[in-house]
Amino acid sequence: MKRFICQCGQEVFFQNTHCNACGIELGFSPSKQTVLALFENKNEPNWHRYDGLANSYRICQHRDHDIQCNWLIEGEPDHVQCISCRTTRTIPALDQPENMRRWTVMEANKRRMIFGLLDMGLSITSYIEDKEHGLAFDFLEDQRTNASMNEEHILSGHAKGVITINVAEADGSYREATREAMNESFRSLLGHFRHEIGHYYWERLIPHSIDYLAFKQLFGDETQDYGTALDQYYLNGPTDNWQDNYISAYASMHPLEDWAETWSHYMLMRETIETAFNYQICPKLTPYSDFDIWMSEWMELAVVLNALSRSIGNADAYPFIISETVNTKLKFIHHLVNG
Ligand SMILES: [Zn+2]
Ligand SMILES: [Zn+2]
Ligand SMILES: [Zn+2]
Repeated sequence: MKRFICQCGQEVFFQNTHCNACGIELGFSPSKQTVLALFENKNEPNWHRYDGLANSYRICQHRDHDIQCNWLIEGEPDHVQCISCRTTRTIPALDQPENMRRWTVMEANKRRMIFGLLDMGLSITSYIEDKEHGLAFDFLEDQRTNASMNEEHILSGHAKGVITINVAEADGSYREATREAMNESFRSLLGHFRHEIGHYYWERLIPHSIDYLAFKQLFGDETQDYGTALDQYYLNGPTDNWQDNYISAYASMHPLEDWAETWSHYMLMRETIETAFNYQICPKLTPYSDFDIWMSEWMELAVVLNALSRSIGNADAYPFIISETVNTKLKFIHHLVNG
């Protein structure tokens, strides 16, 4: 993540709607990837703002909503919501007491994931603008959080630009119980968003590109039957010694899951490296550095992250092992994105 400074000199953060020091309204500009101090424009309706220079914006419809979306609409006269909010197609029933909070948590994590994409130079289009390839998010409930739902079990997943996420994943207690039941070392909502968007970008970047063969060599043949692989995984568990070849146990299920898990991990590393760079913890390392330098600096940073986390009294912040094979897969994604 980048660092942002208010007009008054105070440090402000990606999710802030106001500056705590001077009280001015703040908004995130997706095109500039920065947080701007906002001024009301006396001659324009009250959803218009300007940045003190010549640039005018509109605030997102969800700003004054519980969602507290601080993203700005730039141009795009037909829209009342920002590019992130527009990708949400289905929300959970808001007459259920917990669902407003869950939806708010979902949107906050989605905005951070989309920031990561913009930072990687990838563009976002919603299903409203592009019926065929645009992104749509369905935030759904099942009977575990709402007894009146038809479905017993909603699993997160991606199909042709539609990303489904079970809103229960916004509950820390649910996530922790699932993490333990699935014997995972790490589970986060941001990780779910990064994983599912990995499936979306696989479809956009790989099958019709010159990188398709290299993908198959590294990740395996993605045409193998998905349903059979899934049944095998839940029946027999992950492949023995999966750590030698995969970033997570789940990645060993199918080549497409391996891709999505590795993509998600790449986004985790990239944002953390950018944060460390901007706080001058790793001043030599940028998101664009050569991958081998990236990796050696990353391993040192991971040691510090875990040591800090243990000192606070928490578990390891980064419970992963990067094997030689995983290193090669991450390098493939680094070159794909930076190329
Ligand atoms: Zn300020
Ligand atoms: Zn918004
Ligand atoms: Zn997946």
